[in-house]
Amino acid sequence: MKNIFNETLESLENTLVESGFKAFSARQIFDWMYKKDIRDFYEMTNISKDLRAFLSSHYTFGNIDIFTKQYSSDGTRKYLFKLSDGHLIESVLMAHDYGKSLCITTQVGCNIGCSFCASGLLKKIRNLSVAEMVMQVLEVQKEAKVRVSHVVIMGTGEPFDNYDNVMKFIDVINSPYALEIGARHITISTSGIVPKIVQFSEESKQVNLAISLHAPTNELRSKLMKINDVYPLEALMKSVKQYVAKTNRRVTFEYILLQDINDSIEYADALSDLLRGLNCYVNLIRYNAVDEFSYEPTEEDSANRFYQRLLKRGIQATLRREMGADIDAACGQLRTKKTI
Ligand code: SAH
Ligand code: SF4
Repeated sequence: MKNIFNETLESLENTLVESGFKAFSARQIFDWMYKKDIRDFYEMTNISKDLRAFLSSHYTFGNIDIFTKQYSSDGTRKYLFKLSDGHLIESVLMAHDYGKSLCITTQVGCNIGCSFCASGLLKKIRNLSVAEMVMQVLEVQKEAKVRVSHVVIMGTGEPFDNYDNVMKFIDVINSPYALEIGARHITISTSGIVPKIVQFSEESKQVNLAISLHAPTNELRSKLMKINDVYPLEALMKSVKQYVAKTNRRVTFEYILLQDINDSIEYADALSDLLRGLNCYVNLIRYNAVDEFSYEPTEEDSANRFYQRLLKRGIQATLRREMGADIDAACGQLRTKKTI
């Protein structure tokens, strides 16, 4: 039996047609599942009895259970889910003035192993299914009694290392027959898997792409992110330029400010030189300290200096405010504490 939340509208239509039913019923089924929150095929009263029987014998509704949750005073909520095989994954709900944004996990663990990231402490065990990603949104909406308006694919895992499932997940949450989260409200973040950036630029999806850069030189980036040895800055920047040319979309570069590591004015200048002329902006991120590592977040004054320098040199940038600092909100922290 398959979890029905793995299906995109298109794949469900194909299954129905192959089994002698009408493609159109897929929309009705999605309507029951996503708009009316029905979890029993026999309650789907506008589809035929035969189809209800077919669905019941082929599909389940699956589930992921909330294992623990933490609420921050700033409205951030962090959830640790237990999957059906016992693995733990996390999602973080953030309250912004423009809506509610949910940070989604794509893999159990992560193999990229960046030197500052708690998620990389636990090696990848497996990819998440489409259903396990969709259910993060559904369960959080139910628990927090909110509509998730924005999704950031920035939890544990490298989304481009689980490419096909992540693309289907985007289809489901974006579909007007399912969760209707606007493509421009969806952001996918990658550590820089070059061939997948190229592939992604062919998808004609209107979702935002964010690249975890964190350093403007190969020497420093390789120290922070060993993926840089496989896809160094020249190759990465080439693929990003291709993406921008192909999609006409602005790309975001994420840059965590690490005290005395990548936050000097010289690095701000090198970063401006690297990005000059590209349709992009830089998201300066405050580092959430991780017990296992000695990195510290850059102090506010230095962070501001770095930010102002980028602006002065013509690079658009934002200095992101910290969210959920009181609840282990850094990626992977909650799960790491419960697992190690
Ligand atoms: N694997 C993907 C997406 C998940 S990580 C990627 O690396 O892009 C999402 C973002 O969180 C990345 O930019 C990552 O560098 C950042 N991040 C990881 N650990 C962090 C921490 N302790 N504090 C702040 N940001 C962190
Ligand atoms: Fe994996 Fe991203 Fe963490 Fe690097 S920053 S270890 S790619 S989750």
